[in-house]
Amino acid sequence: MENEEESTHRKINTGTGLALVGVGVVGVLWIAERLFSLGDGPQAIPLVGKFLAFDAAARTIVTPSGKYEVPEGAYFAAGIFLYILMLGVGVSLISWIFAAFFSAAALAQPADALRNEAAAQYRRILAGFSARGKLDDDAALLGRTRRISAGLIIAAADVRAETAAWSWEVHMTSDASTGAFCMAGGKVLVGGELVKRLGLSDGELAMLLGHEIAHAVAGHRREIPRMEMESDPAEDIRQIEIALMQEREADEIGMRLAYRAGWPASSLASFYEKLAAQEIPGTFNSSHPSAASRVTWARAMARELDQQGR
Ligand SMILES: [Zn+2]
Repeated sequence: MENEEESTHRKINTGTGLALVGVGVVGVLWIAERLFSLGDGPQAIPLVGKFLAFDAAARTIVTPSGKYEVPEGAYFAAGIFLYILMLGVGVSLISWIFAAFFSAAALAQPADALRNEAAAQYRRILAGFSARGKLDDDAALLGRTRRISAGLIIAAADVRAETAAWSWEVHMTSDASTGAFCMAGGKVLVGGELVKRLGLSDGELAMLLGHEIAHAVAGHRREIPRMEMESDPAEDIRQIEIALMQEREADEIGMRLAYRAGWPASSLASFYEKLAAQEIPGTFNSSHPSAASRVTWARAMARELDQQGR
């Protein structure tokens, strides 16, 4: 009788111990994930470096047989797997099934293909700039951009609730050829040169960021410019029409976001004035509405917003 009770106690203690280890494993994996995604450039794992390297910024595992992309949430899924497995103390079939089910669910959760693809592409872009010392190299602008983005991100959740669960990231680069963009899933990058050249105030920067964030919030498919080897005129016109429509939509949603975030409507309109002042006469960017027409629109929209109130 006493023996049985003792062994039950031992079982409970082992169970608690393993559960704590499980929590620890999840925690370590979680922290590793955070650290790695903050790290710069390729980091080889010393012990197995010869056969396995982990490029944290690009989220790839490099093995002799090739490169493999680590899906977002993989560590978390692995952590959940171990955790549930350990909770099940004896490795019973049920605990295996539970562990497999929940870790698959964790993996599948961010499985939005477009967002995963965008996240991987964003990592590669950041890694490229980081390698050239051009990532987040203007602390003042980075701070300003992040502070302004924070308000816009909160406003975005009012327009589309699920954006609150996105893993938003905001970075800047001093690379001169980068304008500004926000990829699917909330991956923002701003070019310091653009902000400087246009001499943007905070309110105007909010409009620029709002416009870019609006593209992601509206789920616009941002296509990488394809090589113009053979062009089909009808297809080109269709593409331009879609692009123009998306730009108009991003202008409108973007201004609403910035206005909700507390920026005065007048500074939002003045962003388009500065943009128009920079447009070289005679050129027309086919994928964006003309700067002059955007100014007219922006002034009217600003008046409308001021009448409606926040
Ligand atoms: Zn745009």
